[in-house]
Amino acid sequence: MAKYVYTFGAARAEGRAGMKDLLGGKGANLAEMCHLGIPVPAGFTITTEVCTYYYEHGGTYPQGLREDVEKALAFMAEVMEARFGDPDNPLLVSVRSGARQSMPGMMETVLNVGLCSSTIPGMVRRTGNERFVYDSYRRLIMMYADVVMEKAAGIEPAEGEAIRVQLEHLMDARKKEKGVTADTDLTADDLKALCDAFRRRVEEVLGKPFPDDPMDQLWGAIGAVFQSWNGKRAVQYRRIEGIPDEWGTAVNVQAMVFGNMGERSATGVGFTRNPATGENSFYGEWLPNAQGEDVVAGIRTPYAINEASKNDANRHLPTLEEAMPEAYQELLEVRNRLERHYRDMQDIEFTVQEGRVWLLQTRTGKRNGPAAVRMAVDMVDEGLIDKAEAVIRVKPNQLDELLHPMVDPAAERSARPLARGLPAGPGGATGRIVLTPERAEERAAAGETVILVRIETSPEDVHGMHVAEAIVTAKGGMTSHAALVARGWGKTCVVGCGALEIDVAAGTVTVGDTVLREGDVITVNGTKGVLYAGELPLIVLDPERHEHLARFLGFCDELRRLGVRTNADRPEDAAQARRFGAEGIGLCRTEHMFFGGERIRAMREMILAETPEERARALEKLLPYQKEDFKGIFRAMEGLPVTVRLLDPPLHEFVPHEDAQIRELAETMGKDPEAVRTRVAQLREMNPMLGHRGCRLGISYPEITRMQARAVLEAAAELRKEGVDARPEIMVPLVGHVAELQDQKRLILEVAEEVKRATGVDDLPFLVGTMVEVPRAALTAGEIASEAEFFSFGTNDLTQMTCGFSRDDAGSFLPVYVERGIYPKDPFQSIDQEGVGQLVALGTERGRAARPDLKVGVCGEHGGDPDSIAFFHRVGLDYVSCSPFRVPIARLAAAQAAVSETA
Ligand code: ADP
Ligand code: MG
Ligand code: MG
Repeated sequence: MAKYVYTFGAARAEGRAGMKDLLGGKGANLAEMCHLGIPVPAGFTITTEVCTYYYEHGGTYPQGLREDVEKALAFMAEVMEARFGDPDNPLLVSVRSGARQSMPGMMETVLNVGLCSSTIPGMVRRTGNERFVYDSYRRLIMMYADVVMEKAAGIEPAEGEAIRVQLEHLMDARKKEKGVTADTDLTADDLKALCDAFRRRVEEVLGKPFPDDPMDQLWGAIGAVFQSWNGKRAVQYRRIEGIPDEWGTAVNVQAMVFGNMGERSATGVGFTRNPATGENSFYGEWLPNAQGEDVVAGIRTPYAINEASKNDANRHLPTLEEAMPEAYQELLEVRNRLERHYRDMQDIEFTVQEGRVWLLQTRTGKRNGPAAVRMAVDMVDEGLIDKAEAVIRVKPNQLDELLHPMVDPAAERSARPLARGLPAGPGGATGRIVLTPERAEERAAAGETVILVRIETSPEDVHGMHVAEAIVTAKGGMTSHAALVARGWGKTCVVGCGALEIDVAAGTVTVGDTVLREGDVITVNGTKGVLYAGELPLIVLDPERHEHLARFLGFCDELRRLGVRTNADRPEDAAQARRFGAEGIGLCRTEHMFFGGERIRAMREMILAETPEERARALEKLLPYQKEDFKGIFRAMEGLPVTVRLLDPPLHEFVPHEDAQIRELAETMGKDPEAVRTRVAQLREMNPMLGHRGCRLGISYPEITRMQARAVLEAAAELRKEGVDARPEIMVPLVGHVAELQDQKRLILEVAEEVKRATGVDDLPFLVGTMVEVPRAALTAGEIASEAEFFSFGTNDLTQMTCGFSRDDAGSFLPVYVERGIYPKDPFQSIDQEGVGQLVALGTERGRAARPDLKVGVCGEHGGDPDSIAFFHRVGLDYVSCSPFRVPIARLAAAQAAVSETA
């Protein structure tokens, strides 16, 4: 017969830490603490299997459970020298939930079970403390009525009429009547009267008397804990955290110890290290003469357990170390023992009963990003864990927290959000509203910090986006233009703030009744996707912690196999990425080199040219600009490879579409407006994503490819002469057929010969390769690799073309797909491993078969996504490339992939 009940107590236990599936986290760790000789009140755990049984059998228990519980109660009586239900010498118990994975605050616990008219006198006699007994009794009535008689019974009270709230009102009224504020100021007589009033109210409201039999109370509480697994909050929490419904909760029945027995008693919670900073010092809060939840419930201001834990609210209050030095010492020893044993920061609950310390819970403690990094590094130094373990301990998103200023969470708690949207770029920012990119540049040049607020953004806004501290859009999703650009620059960004009504002409942003004007200050939390009117303080990482970060990322580099490059188009971004550890550029887009001032003029001249000669002349004007751009980037990446992608977007993105602008353009170029209009109309495409772009441009207009190749290679040659080690890799985009690459490669090699001759630089190392982003290229990778010296999977387009999802239009149906689980995740954010991933794997395999030393990487949004990175590691790519601010995250994710492979 299955074993349903596991006892623990007096340095013995039938369970252990590894049995979380069966005993829940709380039960398993209580057992483990017993094995360690840590003082834990005796008790037993009813397994999660009983919960499963309970739900499969209409709320009944398996045969034999009652007998097992009786036996376990007898064990507790022996260890605790008091018996549950005994009128002379009663033992009280708590009945506690405990799932495999902690679900903080989601399920229920009842304390002081077993107090009733037959046991109260015995309890008073034994303790000589009537006040304490009635304090415990009123707590039992409150919790039991709430958890067992109301919630578990499925009673849905109206707002403000929950039994718990009603009983709290009774208690408040009593305190008012007595002219006191603290619960602890109520006397035994007050509490006694309150208990009577409580029981009357319970019966009145819930239609049943408060149970007066210990066994009835016990089984009522056990059933209620099982019921709480399917409580509304718990079910919602499981949906969010992805916890399966079948897991069920265990129930822990445990002898009560009392922190509310007077001034030599206390209750508290602690962390074995500081969870906010990671500092290796015991951290916690406590309250004298209190029970259970009092510390976290916020009824009284909790005291600090030691100097290091003090804050402004409790600086004047005594520490546990001062008030109960011996208990504190004992607790400190427990803390040390727990850390040595679990080799990780623990979150503990303790109670001191008349000077004696008891532990009630331990579990791995939650921590923020900076703390996670610091603890991981410190624990390696302390010899608690190895580097591989350290690397696994930090979540990729926690690194993100370290790299951006954040809105101060304390300030945020008391601020009223103005609007919500999607968290497209992490971190916090505060600045003045600007509604156009021109205004952004103007105000930024005048030294203001600005936040660009737009309905949505387009490539023409990029200059304004660059100078803005943060970007906010009313429309758009996580892969909208604003989101992509913001991620690239590590800018704070919130997109899809539907509540914003933006009136550029009037210079206003309206949200409900609030009207903000251009120039007003707002605060943006891009990590959560929230906007606030006015300025909230930001907190920035202190440099001391960078030391830990650098060492931590060093561990990652030792362990990873995947290389990490960056997507960067400008020298500043390249330099930033290099500081973050990028080992080269995996994607340098060149389109921005055609925008702005003189350049766009020349570009338009080129587009409107009627003969190849005219076109070549226009391109000649662009050459010096591009060459300078490349020099800047090659310098920033000296000694490291830089993959330059030839012009990719369709030409219509470079010409104006409005009539007035077209006329103006025609005028400045001395052309007939009608001819210009016709040319612009010609460029318009039904489906630009599948239109005249990528290498198709370079094939129709070889002058473009020649000019770009020349700019790249002359820049490299001239730098070589100066002794700068430039390593260009020229990448031809959107190749689907080997002949396309052959065509473009021939041009590039011709130009290379010309450049060598002209500059006299013979030793000019460079590679020619291709972006693999058309499914046909992946399928024919063998042939393509015979021409390409490297592949870079452009997984954005590859996803678009493999799934047949237009990147620009997917916003209208993809969210629904993800919600319904048709695709588990947005395939533009995390690579679709079964589909698109197959093409990556197959393309790599066929490519390498044809050319064993083929370098294979990936550029595109997926290069910075941890799950995708793990996939690219498994497929055996050489490197991933991602935006500068994702580089540290990619280093970590690559290391984690390597570590979990060997594990
Ligand atoms: P949660 O999972 O919500 O933290 P717990 O089961 O841990 O719920 O209990 C709630 C509070 O009651 C905690 O502060 C805990 O320390 C306290 N508590 C639980 N059991 C006992 C007990 N046997 N003696 C004293 N305090 C207890
Ligand atoms: Mg707890
Ligand atoms: Mg592409």
